[in-house]
Amino acid sequence: ATHGSVVRATLFPGDGIGPEISASVKQVFDAAGVPIEWEEHEVGKEVDPRTGSFITFDSMESVRRNGIGLKGPMTTPIGKGFRSLNLTLRKELGLYANVRPCMSIPGYKTRYDNVNLVTIRENTEGEYSGLEHQVVKGVVESIKIITRHASLRVAEYAFHYAKTNNRQRVSAIHKANIMKKTDGLFLKCCREVAEKYPDIVYEEVVIDNCCMMLVRNPSLFDVLVMPNLYGDIISDLCAGLIGGLGLTPSCNIGDKGLCLAEAVHGTAPTIAGQNKANPTALLLSSVMMLRHLGMNEQAERIHKSILKTIQEAKYLTGDLGGHSTTSDYTKAVCDNL
Ligand code: NAD
Repeated sequence: ATHGSVVRATLFPGDGIGPEISASVKQVFDAAGVPIEWEEHEVGKEVDPRTGSFITFDSMESVRRNGIGLKGPMTTPIGKGFRSLNLTLRKELGLYANVRPCMSIPGYKTRYDNVNLVTIRENTEGEYSGLEHQVVKGVVESIKIITRHASLRVAEYAFHYAKTNNRQRVSAIHKANIMKKTDGLFLKCCREVAEKYPDIVYEEVVIDNCCMMLVRNPSLFDVLVMPNLYGDIISDLCAGLIGGLGLTPSCNIGDKGLCLAEAVHGTAPTIAGQNKANPTALLLSSVMMLRHLGMNEQAERIHKSILKTIQEAKYLTGDLGGHSTTSDYTKAVCDNL
């Protein structure tokens, strides 16, 4: 959504620590002079009949119109008669791929120093198609759907991502030795797309072997693409390799190249409103958003300044073992720009 030279982007500050970490992103973008104009949207207080959820129709329209957005964590309301917030966003915006880069953060010590991989998860079908029923008492069935359409779409995105982000290899993760038809079709689609990208190495790795390789030596991987359930599990495993959900950004890719970036963590209710939250994951998500828009220079500057602030270790929030507030950390990131 370009408006002059300024790009309009939708911002959902979200709940809990959401508003605090969103404020941090706004502050850093201002300091870096990023030409983004935010359209802020709160989650509604009641169900909007047009979306069947607390997310309003106007909010949906805003993301569709802008094609780009950033989302803070949202509290999942409990009750009957409406769709969950994340499900609504996924369905309404056709968010078919979830992308999570996992990179070691210099200065923040974890078991590995050399993690630099990206997981790309198919987000619409597979084991999470929601088709479960009881056959007879004591016997239930869950149906895994794999389609050529959705598999090609996510494979295309994985190779496109690899190419545009200077990555060398794509690994398709599967269990086609057992699930010959479903995972077999997923692999067939990945192979078809791989042929169009001769410069990118393509390999297939069985999920169980993939887990062992990841925990022994994560640098064996570059870009991983996989069906829904495997992606759900492997992407959290990878977040664990670099220090947990508080540092992990993500973005969701939808219809017509739409991109909705979001931190992986939740609303952290116990520290909400206390200026204690670590805004790094949302900041890194906003960097993904900028890269998606092709604003690589600003993305790089902000990214480097976040890494520098963490490496200097003078202004770290509690979750990283420091004593700084969200605002002090944010100020340090701005000063390092
Ligand atoms: P959580 O991620 O909110 O918290 C897990 C732990 O990590 C807590 O100790 C929390 O204090 C800490 N933490 C998380 N983010 C942090 C940050 N940025 N800085 C410092 N510490 C951080 O997970 P939860 O407690 O299971 O869920 C709380 C709420 O969040 C629930 O209502 C859940 O539905 C919601 N949730 C939303 C999303 C989303 O909108 N994408 C994702 C997960 C959970």
